[in-house]
Amino acid sequence: MTEKRFTKNFTKQEPICEDGIEKALVILRTGKLHRYNTEGEEKGETALLEEEFAAYMGKKYCLACASCGSAIYLALKSLGVGPRDTILCNAFTLAPVPGAVENTGANIELVEITDDYTVDLDDLADKAPGANFFLLSHMRGHIANMDKVMELCKIYDLTLIEDSAHTMGASWNGKKSGAFGKVGCFSTQTYKHINSGEGGLLVTDDPEVISRAIISSGSYMLYERHTSRPAMDVFEPIKNITPNYSCRMDNLRAAILRPQLQMLDAQCARWNKRYQILEQGLNNIDGIACPKRDPKETYVGSSIQFSINSDHKEMTTTFLLRCMDRGVELKWFGNKEPIGFTSSYSNWEYIENLPSLPNTDRILRTMCDMRIPLTFSEEDCREIVEIISDVAKRTLF
Ligand SMILES: *Cc1c(COP(=O)(O)O)cnc(C)c1O
Repeated sequence: MTEKRFTKNFTKQEPICEDGIEKALVILRTGKLHRYNTEGEEKGETALLEEEFAAYMGKKYCLACASCGSAIYLALKSLGVGPRDTILCNAFTLAPVPGAVENTGANIELVEITDDYTVDLDDLADKAPGANFFLLSHMRGHIANMDKVMELCKIYDLTLIEDSAHTMGASWNGKKSGAFGKVGCFSTQTYKHINSGEGGLLVTDDPEVISRAIISSGSYMLYERHTSRPAMDVFEPIKNITPNYSCRMDNLRAAILRPQLQMLDAQCARWNKRYQILEQGLNNIDGIACPKRDPKETYVGSSIQFSINSDHKEMTTTFLLRCMDRGVELKWFGNKEPIGFTSSYSNWEYIENLPSLPNTDRILRTMCDMRIPLTFSEEDCREIVEIISDVAKRTLF
């Protein structure tokens, strides 16, 4: 019997849309790639992207940055975070998130996750009394109950910063993910929802935070050219006391992002079609369960995670290897050694007093993670389910 093998590439993205390519060529032909390389009243592509993303998010201000990691760093610094502060953060997140905290010198207090892969609100409440900030990472697009998150932030006087790298286009109860916090941060890196290779976007309604972030991003004394900003006098008291960390976005990247932003909601709908086929199919397999999602959550299914019934490492690795043999590339956060983009909190040994988080350990041990590139058709998703089902029957209980 010949076994069906999936042959498409899990890291192949769609090409940049033609509008984006044309806009990029216009920028290249002028040579005006730097965001402040503008003349007179001319608005550069980066400034326009900021206006458009702020409008999309329903926020007053937006700043385009070099990456989401640098946007988080700028957000924390602009909020005044320093070595005396303690920042809560869910332990299931990506390495640039604790990295941004480390860069500020603040302490990071990692919080457990639940079986649905979102932050454990009981553990958050337990740890909140010693902390003053909460950096909530909507890791892999799983949105915690934001009503409860906001309530806890209020009770414990926590300033909320959202890492919405995987929730661009998503919302909770009709409000956009990234619009709940004092600051929301987004990624435009290739594997996120709009693609400029690298890039980040920061949004806020707070005039002081955005003015500090603009100066820190490396605006020199050209911040007047930002059009998503408060009045010039807000900058006056801080312009000489705010360091330049040089993490701007350039016009070339902004130019290819602007048309993609117009398509974002339609792209999210395409992701969700694929996600729902996979979710339904995987949930029908004995020994596999996708997390329950709250009806208030409007997610973007650009990747899928599921837990497998496996009580030892050999069973899990056999399952993963056999899927891989049949062309289905799954990632595993339970690995002792970090691989590719995937690492787990226990690998971040630079964190002082790295806690042990038994629930998070248990959940990550059996959690599988799969990208859903839009280059996969709906039929491809059905084929992937068939293969995983086949492998599960032979390897799981
Ligand atoms: C990708 C990602 C980041 C970092 O984004 P960069 O733009 O690569 O710095 C942060 N948090 C999460 C959850 C991510 O997936």
